[in-house]
Amino acid sequence: MSQLVLIVEDERDLLATLEYNLKREGYRTRCAASGRDAIAAALGPDTPDVVLLDLMLPDIPGTEVCRTLRANERTRSVPIVMLTAKTDEVDRVVGFEVGADDYVAKPFSIRELLLRIRAILRRAKPAPESGNEGVHDLGQLKLDISAHRTWVDGEEVVLTALEFRLLKTLIERRGRVQSREVLLTDVWGVSAEVTTRTVDTHVKRLRQKIGSAGAYIETLRGVGYRFAQDVPEERPRGAVTS
Ligand code: CA
Repeated sequence: MSQLVLIVEDERDLLATLEYNLKREGYRTRCAASGRDAIAAALGPDTPDVVLLDLMLPDIPGTEVCRTLRANERTRSVPIVMLTAKTDEVDRVVGFEVGADDYVAKPFSIRELLLRIRAILRRAKPAPESGNEGVHDLGQLKLDISAHRTWVDGEEVVLTALEFRLLKTLIERRGRVQSREVLLTDVWGVSAEVTTRTVDTHVKRLRQKIGSAGAYIETLRGVGYRFAQDVPEERPRGAVTS
């Protein structure tokens, strides 16, 4: 079945344009023109694969919708792309802090948005894997790649899809410095909107969330970030050491 996009937008013309273009690209769509309808639609039986979320809605702000979806088990890892007229860096940071995965400022080109959606869905697609594969047990930190879950000292920490991908990328390349540009390309996907400062904002946020394990992510000033090489790793039983 094709992927489902939930479009949350109160401007009727834009909503219709988005719906038309997404359908033409082969996506299934569901539309909501208010925050409450959006939450009801997202938490319904058919969980969307991605949510396009307008920030300024008539009833509750898009940030509130985002928080609600992040707090719910069903929707916490569904990628959210915020649509907004605000281009201010502050608003962008707020959007990311409440758990948005990407940010598109109006007016945007439909083509650009479609590319972003495609990139996000490609990244969100779980890799075909089985059993223990994809479990990282590093010092205080544990990541289950296929289940998309993170624990610090045995306590589960809820990360957004983007934060999780950022952490996973750093871990998979542990000991190697990743420049902001490389992280932007590999974690965010090519995008005109996000800047290297976005990487810093996310790393900061990620470190706060994972608490004491945040120290594993090292900053190399002027260069980028690196997941520390010397974190002891416990290999899952049966795993092949390469
Ligand atoms: Ca609006």
